[in-house]
Amino acid sequence: IWIRGGKRMYGGIEAGGTKFVCAVSDGGEILEKLSIPTTTPEETLDQVFEFFDRYELKGIGIGSFGPIGIDKTKDNYGYVLATPKKGWAQFDFLGTIKERYNIPAAWTTDVNAAAYGELKQGAAQGKNSCIYLTVGTGIGAGVVINEEIFSGIAHPEMGHIWVKRHPDDHYEGTCPYHKDCLEGLAAGPSIEARTGIKGQDLPQDHPVWAIQAYYIAQALINYTLTLAPEKIILGGGVMNQDHLLQKIRQQFVELMGGYMETPQVSEYIVRWGLPNESGIIGSLLLAEHEHQK
Ligand code: ADP
Ligand code: ZN
Repeated sequence: IWIRGGKRMYGGIEAGGTKFVCAVSDGGEILEKLSIPTTTPEETLDQVFEFFDRYELKGIGIGSFGPIGIDKTKDNYGYVLATPKKGWAQFDFLGTIKERYNIPAAWTTDVNAAAYGELKQGAAQGKNSCIYLTVGTGIGAGVVINEEIFSGIAHPEMGHIWVKRHPDDHYEGTCPYHKDCLEGLAAGPSIEARTGIKGQDLPQDHPVWAIQAYYIAQALINYTLTLAPEKIILGGGVMNQDHLLQKIRQQFVELMGGYMETPQVSEYIVRWGLPNESGIIGSLLLAEHEHQK
């Protein structure tokens, strides 16, 4: 075993549907990071083990694509639940990791890990609560309240909420479960389905952006009214459109109608502070948190 400087390390896994990011840290810097394509659990975890086997770990944090089982009293705790990704549905992810490395392990969703990373070291640093929303292939949100990840009977599924339809939008929606929920109407694939053009290639003045902004702003209104977080952080591929962020802020203020007092919208609804790294940094910080418990 290769132990850097004789110190034991924290491990982090950001397990996404397209790629896994593995990293080790000594509690400060990331010392090594590796990206692996997500294929079957066996193939992918073989590479994960190859990466971490060279270290002596004292804790590991996993932020996984979901839905995942988080209820410790249930048999499916630590499992990936219903997913169309081949081989992953009902896979005992946490159990497989714990069998290999008998160490404290934090287990949560990828978006919760990202929210945690943003709270500790990113755009919500110094706050007690935040919501992290990713708008990419899907839509998902993580919630940190009082510096802890929030969960109830399950982890929240805030990408699948109901939104009011835009009067000019007649698209049926992409969600296989609900069709026209938020994810169905506003995730990246819905842009391409409406226009035949991928979001990254669509001009800024295309009318579809106003529709996107309308749905995402409604979601942020709903999250604000139900959870009153100190900050809302937006990540994901679609949010690379700066003009969309501006449109969302405008819609948010308009739709709120002055009802609830929030911080200045440019401070309240912000872009991620740890671009592309919120999830892996959050996973490493959760490993540390778990080890210190
Ligand atoms: P994933 O959600 O799979 O992790 P991304 O967050 O990159 O990956 O999301 C991919 C989706 O975001 C695709 O639908 C893609 O068309 C869209 N997308 C990626 N980059 C941009 C961009 N610059 N502007 C608008 N949409 C984008
Ligand atoms: Zn849905």
